[in-house]
Amino acid sequence: MASIPKAAPQPIPRIAPREDLNPLRIAQIQFDIAAEYLKLDPGIRQILRTPKRVLEVSVPTKMDNGQIKVFTGYRVQHNVSRGPAKGGLRYHPNVTLDEVKALATWMTWKTATVNIPYGGGKGGVICDPKRMTKSELERMTRRYTSEILPLIGPEQDIPAPDVYTDAQTMAWIMDTYSMTKGYSALGVVTGKPLSIGGSEGRTEATARGCVVATEEACKTKKMSLRGATVAIQGFGNVGSLAARLFTEKKARVVAISDSRGGVFNSRGIDPLKAMRYKERSGTVVGMPGTSRISNDDLLTMKCDILVPAALENVITLNNVEQIKAKMVVEGANGPTTPHADEVLARKGILLLPDILANAGGVTVSYFEWVQDLQSFFWSEAEVNTKLESVMRRAFQQVHDMARKHRAHLRTGAYVLAVGRVADATLVRGLFP
Ligand code: NAD
Repeated sequence: MASIPKAAPQPIPRIAPREDLNPLRIAQIQFDIAAEYLKLDPGIRQILRTPKRVLEVSVPTKMDNGQIKVFTGYRVQHNVSRGPAKGGLRYHPNVTLDEVKALATWMTWKTATVNIPYGGGKGGVICDPKRMTKSELERMTRRYTSEILPLIGPEQDIPAPDVYTDAQTMAWIMDTYSMTKGYSALGVVTGKPLSIGGSEGRTEATARGCVVATEEACKTKKMSLRGATVAIQGFGNVGSLAARLFTEKKARVVAISDSRGGVFNSRGIDPLKAMRYKERSGTVVGMPGTSRISNDDLLTMKCDILVPAALENVITLNNVEQIKAKMVVEGANGPTTPHADEVLARKGILLLPDILANAGGVTVSYFEWVQDLQSFFWSEAEVNTKLESVMRRAFQQVHDMARKHRAHLRTGAYVLAVGRVADATLVRGLFP
């Protein structure tokens, strides 16, 4: 397979000299670049640049001490031209409406990149889940669900886990929705426990997709994944399972981190031991046989593959010149700013963009929804095989598009995805 050509200069719209880190502005800049390549009509640009629906809700919750606390939550649907809105639910103190809008926008492009019949949505609640008990989280989740009830449903908008939400959160949402409707609606959320219509392979799907996309990228770089050194920022669902799967492919995970800091061992870190250690101590920091590093050190250390798998805006103009990895695989959504993208391309560092690299999660969410709607469930091997073929095909299509436009892979993915959504919007026509 031919190697990826050096990126041609990209027409980045001018932004303030200091980098603008607002995720919505970033999502719109990424869209504008693709819209230029596609020469989209100004009307279509306006439609695709802004979310279709935004709901803000108050979530009054009784805390364990008897007091009531009112949380703010959001659900955003960016676009539904190709199918129901689809996207995760985030619990984090730094959630903002602009972040949720950006994440919903990225979901539209992600589902289009892997060509599954969904649009894009996202939800968030401003809260600190680490300081809440399980029963407080349950009451908050159920009330949030009832507040966003008019928007969600198997044919409308289907939430899934994201940062600090998990299969249990999805079970509470599914139960609240089902109790209100009077029947069990398996297809209202994905990422559920297996006992209520979850899919085999969903928990590790995002990580598995990352690793498959990395394998494909390695082929184009004529680089071997076997023996490659990997540094992973964020040791949650995506990061910890990516560490395990990279290790299964005989790559060497030399550094991992979480919100409290990172650890390093040049001979490799055993991901299963790290998971057990984190489960006991709440962090990877202090894991025996490792030395401590900061999250900043992890990002700029010498390694073959860097996987940001935590939050947005971690590779910016502040540190991009110091990035030494040969490849950046975006496990997280939005970890790299548009200006940092250009610097990485100039340095010859291959970046696998989020809307491709972490699309394995939503792909198996789609499989879960299909299984729920048909009440017919697949084996883990079937799920993994189908996931791999979707990821390999998407990588190839993104790579071909990037080559065609002599652009880097993010632009290739955006041109592919935005083109698909624009086509769907145009062929449907404007209502009324
Ligand atoms: P998670 O809550 O399971 O894990 C997040 C991890 O990031 C935790 O280990 C946390 O300690 C760490 N973290 C938080 N703040 C950090 C910081 N400042 N520095 C370093 N580490 C920090 O979340 P997740 O589901 O693994 O999601 C991680 C990223 O992947 C997010 O950007 C999310 O949107 C994206 N993503 C997740 C999925 C999925 O299926 N879960 C799918 C696609 C994309």
